[in-house]
Amino acid sequence: MPIEITRERMKALRDHFVSRQHELLALTCALVEAESPSGDKDGSIAAVSLLASAAATIGSVSSVERISSEEFGEHLRIKAFTDNDSPPIVILGHTDTVHPRGAIKERPWRAEGNRIYGPGIFDMKANCALALEVLRACEATESCPRSPITILLTCDEETGSPSGRGLVEAESKNARAVLVLEPPASGGRAKTARKGTGMFTLEVHGRAAHAGLDPEKGVSAVLELAKQTIRLHDLNNFATGSTVTVTVVGGGTHSNVVPAEARAEVDMRFSTSTEGQRIESEIYNLKPYDERAKLVVRGGINRPPLERTDKVAALYEQARAIGALLDFDLGEASVGGASDGNFVGALGVPVLDGLGIEGDGAHAAHEHIVVDDIPLRGALLAGLIATL
Ligand SMILES: [Zn+2]
Repeated sequence: MPIEITRERMKALRDHFVSRQHELLALTCALVEAESPSGDKDGSIAAVSLLASAAATIGSVSSVERISSEEFGEHLRIKAFTDNDSPPIVILGHTDTVHPRGAIKERPWRAEGNRIYGPGIFDMKANCALALEVLRACEATESCPRSPITILLTCDEETGSPSGRGLVEAESKNARAVLVLEPPASGGRAKTARKGTGMFTLEVHGRAAHAGLDPEKGVSAVLELAKQTIRLHDLNNFATGSTVTVTVVGGGTHSNVVPAEARAEVDMRFSTSTEGQRIESEIYNLKPYDERAKLVVRGGINRPPLERTDKVAALYEQARAIGALLDFDLGEASVGGASDGNFVGALGVPVLDGLGIEGDGAHAAHEHIVVDDIPLRGALLAGLIATL
């Protein structure tokens, strides 16, 4: 049986995070200073080293595994409370950031009132530190979960998880629940639905000709791409949440030559798998307006949508009830951005995303966390895993 969660226990959990705030922020600061943009292997290994050493000092932790990823560095898998073999609760996060090396020199760690700024702090280095502290909090307040806990921190999430995806799916498929520590939506809301994503490139091959002497012999790849751009944008349906955006275009060789080549990158978002497959096939079936031109499409669906299934809704309600014990009303949001939670959603496993510390400015120069939210977030997570 799960332990009973009362107001007193939630208060004890919150107090734990208040008393440990100094240590939690010290680890967060060290992580932010260990810059780890996706693909920077040394940075990844440095961030993972900090977390692995911190995890090794926690009593309930039974294993700390560093899993090498050839192109990105290291994934980290920590197992705790493994004294029974019931399905685990998986806490999911990532150690990579989008900020290039050197960002810390331009925007060093700084506290300003209730906020702490730093590249990658909100998405999601503070949450990596928080995940470890949650284990400590459960132990210290005798709120031990009945399920084993697996913390999985991948190192390539910001690039679409080419090497982390397999691990995320393998750890999650038999999980009791998966809690994703991505940043919350505004107002601290959890994310109960995320759109799926697709990434395509469209190449147009035309025919070069002198723009002055014999333009009629040319086939303009740029003109063809312009028409295809309009056609692609016609696939947008904001009511159903399906979007197609031509994001990067290029083409041509010289100012007096009918362009033989043009190229575009296309971003696609969708709310249901059926809709994703439908648009994907529309993109693959594009026909040239000028039949002398040739179109080449590459790419496809990257992350499936995280749909608000009954299991997702039930997990959200459980988290909300726990938040209420601290007089916090946990809201929910449906968002366009994808995360590793999308892969979990597609497995049909209960998943709740956006459980990280409140803040703002993910991927931007003003990225920060709200310090006062740490004890509440920590207690919410610990209370939730203790009752699952
Ligand atoms: Zn993230």
